[in-house]
Amino acid sequence: MIIAEEKDFLRKIVKDYKARGCTIGFVPTMGYLHEGHLQLVKKSKEIADITIVSIFVNPIQFGPGEDFAKYPRDIERDKGLLKKENVDVLFFPDDKEMYPELPKVRLIVNDLADTLCGKYRPGHFEGVLTVVAKLFNIVQPDFAFFGKKDAQQLIIIERMVRDLDFPIKIIAVDTVREEDGLAKSSRNTYLSDAERKIAPYLYKGLKKFVDELANTNDVIKLKVEVMKYLEDKGFKVQYLDLVDRNTLKEVQQLKDGKYMIAVAAFLGNTRLIDNIWFDVKNGRVKVL
Ligand code: AMP
Repeated sequence: MIIAEEKDFLRKIVKDYKARGCTIGFVPTMGYLHEGHLQLVKKSKEIADITIVSIFVNPIQFGPGEDFAKYPRDIERDKGLLKKENVDVLFFPDDKEMYPELPKVRLIVNDLADTLCGKYRPGHFEGVLTVVAKLFNIVQPDFAFFGKKDAQQLIIIERMVRDLDFPIKIIAVDTVREEDGLAKSSRNTYLSDAERKIAPYLYKGLKKFVDELANTNDVIKLKVEVMKYLEDKGFKVQYLDLVDRNTLKEVQQLKDGKYMIAVAAFLGNTRLIDNIWFDVKNGRVKVL
């Protein structure tokens, strides 16, 4: 595996691959890798000739008081995992390499960032889009892989690629879970043993919500019920919203269309997110 810490070196490598007619798959991450990240890598290996993974904890997507400084990092372990997957190139820039100066130009998102996580993390998606656009310009991939676990991020990036004509195909990858249903996340390491036992109820709550949709169309009542279920388990719910997957706006009446139930909740100081996607066709709910 080639390790590139500098943009210019990475650009040179990419140019050589492209001259040989290779397609490039790109998996951007913040490191502290787990099976979820590796699933994106496996998809890239299936689809593209060359797989490039980046590890960069992007300071400009963290708000004041968020966990930038204590975000888990273990580059040696990550390198071992990526080598095992036969990743071709790891791009591992430091903050100075990515931001010699703080950017004075950033990408903005309008109403897609006004709901769900965007409502509670002002500036977060501008930070994400700015770094993803920079990474896309540096790596120039044919395919880029993102997890459905961070659904709002995925949907906004799909929109960025469409609105700004990036010649890149975005591939969405299903959420990888622990055996008890908890979505894998680098942040799960923050959980105490007691919190870790409660954490799977987040996904159970979402499943309860979708299952009940077969019996009732009363979304508001269901939302109140599931919110209470989660609070009783020990979560502090930040949001629990049923949204349209195109607009990310909350819906209260289901008709045929594409939807998602998404949740963010705290266990102690740890903020967990999760979601379930479903379509409604001829009045029937189909979980994806
Ligand atoms: P992160 O390192 O948390 O920024 O995540 C990097 C990429 O991995 C993003 O596209 C995430 O959506 C994806 N990802 C994180 N956790 C999972 C998971 N449990 N299943 C699938 N993809 C994931």
